[in-house]
Amino acid sequence: MSLIQVKDVMKIYQSGGEQVRALDGVNLEIREGDFTALMGPSGSGKSTLLTVMGALNPPSEGKVIIDDIDVYQLAVERRADFRSNYIGFVFQQFQLISYLTAVENVMLPLAILRYSQKEQLDLANSVLEKVGLAQKRNRLPSQLSGGEQERVAIARAIVNQPPIVFADEPTGSLDTKTGEEIMGLFQSLNNEGLTIVMVTHNEENLNYVKHAVSVRDGVVDTERRTEVLGGHNS
Ligand code: ADP
Ligand code: ADP
Repeated sequence: MSLIQVKDVMKIYQSGGEQVRALDGVNLEIREGDFTALMGPSGSGKSTLLTVMGALNPPSEGKVIIDDIDVYQLAVERRADFRSNYIGFVFQQFQLISYLTAVENVMLPLAILRYSQKEQLDLANSVLEKVGLAQKRNRLPSQLSGGEQERVAIARAIVNQPPIVFADEPTGSLDTKTGEEIMGLFQSLNNEGLTIVMVTHNEENLNYVKHAVSVRDGVVDTERRTEVLGGHNS
């Protein structure tokens, strides 16, 4: 079933008097349970497409429909509520709060949603366990490796159980082995039903995904669906 539909999306940025056409007529469908990689050269529009799909960045033209909701027809505040319920984001630089421990970082979205202190702690501990970081829950981000910080960022993105996670270059700053472990983690979350859309430059990551979309000059250039067998392509 179609979970996200991108319809005739254009995005034009104004940049110092110049117009930059970042997306130039994008049509794309993400199905429920997809694990999608957005690939393409730097400047081709991948991050813009991710934020437009993520209800963060209104298109200049066209629409984005998620679970039958036309997201940019929602008023700004309702769109923010929609985002917190439907979408988790994993940013490239993790954006963890440096003076909060791992578990406190993961509790934060729940605190904003006014969950009780006990629910915050229980849910945060259970997702930290799921991402393999239970032992290090009381460390500050500076006391964690890059891969571990990434796991905290993933835990924070999924703690209130959104159906969709968007990730921008999640393995970009990690060494090969750590990157593979993180992709394995995303794959197991996808196997549990999470729909994932990620921007990546790394061709190796295509081994983990079900749907590869290549973006070029603001349009979808090629798109293919792959059968992922038993966790790994061989
Ligand atoms: P990618 O993620 O593939 O590198 P981006 O979506 O970041 O591509 O950028 C696509 C184009 O839009 C580039 O030319 C970029 O410079 C431009 N762009 C992106 N964000 C902005 C912005 N906030 N203001 C102006 N131009 C932007
Ligand atoms: P990436 O290449 O990893 O997608 P960028 O360095 O292109 O990231 O963009 C980082 C941030 O800067 C983004 O928030 C993007 O929207 C913004 N940005 C990119 N290009 C421009 C631009 N030409 N003018 C203003 N902001 C931009």
